[in-house]
Amino acid sequence: MDIAWKAIVGHEENIARLRAMLREGKLPHAMLFTGPEGVGKRRVAQALAAALLCEREEGSCGLCPSCRALLQENHPDFHMVLPESRGKSARIIRMEQIRELQGEIARLPILSGRRAVIIDDAELMNDAAANSLLKTLEEPVGDVTFLLISGRRSSLLDTIVSRSMPVGFGMLSVEAVAELLAREGVPAEEARELALLSDGSIGRAGKLRAGDGMSLRNDAAEFLWQLGTMSMDEVWCRGKSMGEWERERVSGWLSYLGMLFRDMLVLCCGGSSELLYHQDLCPQILGALADFPEGRIFSMLRLVKETQHRLQSNVNLRLHMEGFLIKVKDL
Ligand SMILES: [Zn+2]
Repeated sequence: MDIAWKAIVGHEENIARLRAMLREGKLPHAMLFTGPEGVGKRRVAQALAAALLCEREEGSCGLCPSCRALLQENHPDFHMVLPESRGKSARIIRMEQIRELQGEIARLPILSGRRAVIIDDAELMNDAAANSLLKTLEEPVGDVTFLLISGRRSSLLDTIVSRSMPVGFGMLSVEAVAELLAREGVPAEEARELALLSDGSIGRAGKLRAGDGMSLRNDAAEFLWQLGTMSMDEVWCRGKSMGEWERERVSGWLSYLGMLFRDMLVLCCGGSSELLYHQDLCPQILGALADFPEGRIFSMLRLVKETQHRLQSNVNLRLHMEGFLIKVKDL
């Protein structure tokens, strides 16, 4: 894992505040990092955990035994809890995982004199896991710092939120995403194009670049252009085939659809094409506006959001996508 502060782009204010609190010994024992997906919340949490555990005053030096152990991903006092998926079911953090963590942190730290715990996608704890963690947050034992990360704060138990100090993260700027991509060796022009489509998320830019992101985006766009002429049967078949996709892929497809709707709204309201996510599709989006009055776009956008939200729980993917596409066609 990367532990260096300087490797992080953006979030300067949060980082300055966290480092000051650490220096002054005022870091609370539980913090909740919230904000959009893929903007670097986990990177900041990792650097903070490294700084907490580092032997040197400046924190996350990269050289002391603690930092070296973290870099080799075998630090005995650092714990990372992530949601796990079983088969095709949605990812979830189960009570066994929290129990196991509690067993580990109950023992004395081995290397750093304290422990640091990161729980990523904390909203994916099921109720039993969340309630179990709550007990630990209410009655902390030893010197343990919890860094909870969540893209959806509203899905967390209120009692967990109220036990943690909130740290809000915003979107990255287009420039910041482009810079991060450039650091990975992406040519400038491509970096800019990906950054525009990324919606301020380096995570999304990475997906666009790596997997079938761009073709997924194009698939969502094609669907939209063809929607008017598709028969109900075709829409139905489409839902059936998307039901076979990985959940994450469906969610990515829906995000692109949502971004296309937002681009339509921008153009509807007379906004400049420079404000678009899909600048390369500007002519097609303009052309499609005749079939999509403003009210319809708003309804579709709402439907996309609702469906994305529901996909987070263990709904039947195929039934859900069939239902979604038919509603979109009917609007
Ligand atoms: Zn160190």
